[in-house]
Amino acid sequence: MEFYSTVQIDAHTWMIKDCFQSYMYLLEGDTQAVLIDSGIGLPGLREYVGRLTQKPVIVINTHGHLDHVGGNCQFEKYYMMQTDHEILQEHTDPVFRKHLMEGFAQEFQLPFKKEELEELAKLGDMPFFFQIMDGQVFDLGSRTLEVIATPGHTIGSVCILDRERRNLFSADTVCDQGILLFFTHSASVREYLKSIRSLQERRTRFERIWPGHHSLPLGLDYLEMYEECAEQILTRPERGEDICSNLGEGKLWRMGRVSITYQLQNL
Ligand SMILES: [Zn+2]
Repeated sequence: MEFYSTVQIDAHTWMIKDCFQSYMYLLEGDTQAVLIDSGIGLPGLREYVGRLTQKPVIVINTHGHLDHVGGNCQFEKYYMMQTDHEILQEHTDPVFRKHLMEGFAQEFQLPFKKEELEELAKLGDMPFFFQIMDGQVFDLGSRTLEVIATPGHTIGSVCILDRERRNLFSADTVCDQGILLFFTHSASVREYLKSIRSLQERRTRFERIWPGHHSLPLGLDYLEMYEECAEQILTRPERGEDICSNLGEGKLWRMGRVSITYQLQNL
C-alpha cells in the first residue's frame, strides 16, 4: 500500500499525509526547506520529500508524540522544544509504538499484519537534536518561520507561523473535532487557554490554520471555539463526561464541533 499522499497548498508548500492520518507540511524557501513534523515513522519519507524539493531539509517537530516524530530518523537533525524530549523518547520506543500503532491500524482499517506493524514500530537512531525557543525565527530564504510556544496538548507544543504566506501550522493545538489535554504530560487547561489567547493576539498575522489531523484548512473561528470551550470547562469542570479510550482517560467537554479532553487534577 501507499504510505504517503500529498496535497499541494501553493507552489512551495505541501501537505503530506501518511496512511496513519498524520499530517506533515513541507515548506520550501529559496535556500532551504522545513518539514513540520515527520509522521508516524514509515519508510521512504526522505525520498518522498526529496521528490518535492531539492533544497536541504530540516525537521521541526511541533511536539514529541509518535505520530509527529517517527520519521525524524531519516533526516540529519531535528528541532523541538526541550520540554517534549522525554515524551519523544517514550514515544519512539518500539514496544510503546507497536501497542499504539496496532490501535491506530484498527481505527483506520489499515491492512497491516501484526508482524508488519512490529517491523514498522522499530525506528532507526534519532539524529542530532536542536532545542527551539518561543519566538525563534527560521530564515528559509525569502520565507520566515516563527515558533510560537503553545503549551497544552503537551508541555512543549508549538505552532509555526509562516509569516509571508500568512499560514499558521497548529498541529494538535488547534484541530477540528477535538484537542486532547488529558495526558500526564499535558499542560493544564488554564495554560492551554493562555496559549489560545496568545494565538488570538496574533490573529491579524495569519489567515488559515493548518492542523495535524482531520479537516483542513481551518478558519480563525476555531480559536474562538477553543477559547470558549476551555472557559466553559474552567467554570464547571466536574460536569464533563467521563471517557476512557486507548489513548487515556479523563473528562470530555463537547462544544459544537469541537471538544477538549482534560483531567480534573490538571485544570
Ligand atoms: Zn499529539
